[in-house]
Amino acid sequence: MALHNTKDVEVVNLSSLYQSPPVDGSKQPDYINAVCEVKTHLTALELLYVCQEIETKQHRVREKKWGARTIDLDIILYGVQVLVSKKLIIPHPEMMNRAFVLVPLAELEDDLKVPVLGPIQDLILELGEFELTKL
Ligand code: AMP
Repeated sequence: MALHNTKDVEVVNLSSLYQSPPVDGSKQPDYINAVCEVKTHLTALELLYVCQEIETKQHRVREKKWGARTIDLDIILYGVQVLVSKKLIIPHPEMMNRAFVLVPLAELEDDLKVPVLGPIQDLILELGEFELTKL
């Protein structure tokens, strides 16, 4: 995994892979998602740059905002830090709407309290029905 091969970043936990249909119901192929926990001395913004470098190296191709892409690496949480800046928002601003983020995250820590948003299990319940397959 590219993150693991990155100097300054150690992957310490990795969820299962989860398959889900595109969020906008379009005809693109399904997405495969996972959540990993990393240890790093990098700041959140430095970590974002590392993620963006990996995306570039893996030839991420994306023509429209919600279009198909080869890779998308997001920072979901950074410990208990809450951050709102032009380049980076933590917790990730869409996390509460995405089963493919919440479910793998809960697999890593089922009693997680997400800063600002609350217990992960409550967030999953609030999603209602969702389509997600654990691979
Ligand atoms: P996307 O590729 O659609 O995930 O969006 C990437 C853009 O969102 C980048 O320009 C980032 O600066 C911005 N962004 C804001 N918050 C985050 C976050 N928590 N993780 C990753 N990208 C973020």
